Amino acid sequence: MDPSNGSCHACGATGGPLMKFSLGKDFFGRPYDRLSPFSDQRPKWYCEACSMHKNLQRDFRDICAEYDKLSAGQGSELAKGDELRRASVRLREIMIILDAAQGQSPLLAGDDVRLLMGRLNTATMPA
Ligand SMILES: [Zn+2]
Repeated sequence: MDPSNGSCHACGATGGPLMKFSLGKDFFGRPYDRLSPFSDQRPKWYCEACSMHKNLQRDFRDICAEYDKLSAGQGSELAKGDELRRASVRLREIMIILDAAQGQSPLLAGDDVRLLMGRLNTATMPA
């Protein structure tokens, strides 16, 4: 079976080089595979631009999930000041990259990132 069918899983681009996306570790340095063993059995393939956006999307999702825990009063990586700062810096980076990209990313909406950035800014009080 052709693992990629020759096209990018996100934007459907064909003809260019495709990369298998490896989940590796999440934004907070935790191994990913325990959360998503399924994705190892069905690896996805992305073109160059999408594999970069996939990394941004992964960090965004990690930060978003930790923010949800924080706002629900559960233990969260973002309760540590350093991680909260690091997450804010990363979101700003993601925003800059998205703004510089041609057209809308098929994987990540700038508005979502902006929204989470605003929420993080209001979550700076100590837990
Ligand atoms: Zn693509």
